Amino acid sequence: MRKKLAAGNWKMNGLRASLSEVEALIAAHPSPSCEVLLCPPATLIAAMAQAADGKIFVGAQDCHMAGSGAHTGDISAAMIADAGAGHAILGHSERRADHGEDDAMVRAKTEAALSGGLVAVVCVGETEAQRDAGETLDVIDSQLTGSLPDHATAANTVIAYEPVWAIGTGRTPTLEQIAEVHDFMRKTLTARFGAEADGMRLLYGGSVKPSNAAEIFATSNVDGALVGGASLKAADFGAIIAAL
Ligand code: PEP
Repeated sequence: MRKKLAAGNWKMNGLRASLSEVEALIAAHPSPSCEVLLCPPATLIAAMAQAADGKIFVGAQDCHMAGSGAHTGDISAAMIADAGAGHAILGHSERRADHGEDDAMVRAKTEAALSGGLVAVVCVGETEAQRDAGETLDVIDSQLTGSLPDHATAANTVIAYEPVWAIGTGRTPTLEQIAEVHDFMRKTLTARFGAEADGMRLLYGGSVKPSNAAEIFATSNVDGALVGGASLKAADFGAIIAAL
């Protein structure tokens, strides 16, 4: 039985004052039925981990592939763990687009995260042009193949399907389209990882909000969500958590 996961990605949002949202979230949902993860900007990881007090998981939004060295502005898995986080999002489409991260880089970063004891939340998803061209499943297949290391397990790896055209746009795929991709991912992962793939959580991400969360969570092979904008406010993210 896969434990559901509600993961929030604060992206480049949040100051220390924003941690009141974390406190409000925990107060409103002291014993959620799913796992809850928030990934703030790096500047807030340590303070959020302190505010979370072990009641929710805290993660980073990226992790460098090297353990240390001359990489200005980057942070390593050991630094993330040292700041109090246990997860890292890898290969988000904004990093793939803004920082030129390809599957090989995402895989190297995922390997670094796993070696550092972090749980990797690895993102895949097609662009609108790729969907229109009928390439969605091929794109997902090659991103999964290229981005996941061979030693990915149910315990150390979560996959997030995030269609690029659904992120921050208010648009979502139909439930049939989500089910098609999630069923395909389960099949693809099973072909590579065998029975281990049964336990891997598959999150949907892209314009998840309180009003559409329940129907998305009821969709085949959806084990939770990666939420951007709606994770910033305790009321919205709390309603999504309650729908899981
Ligand atoms: C995201 O960036 O991971 C995301 C899903 O964003 P939003 O929920 O705002 O579409």
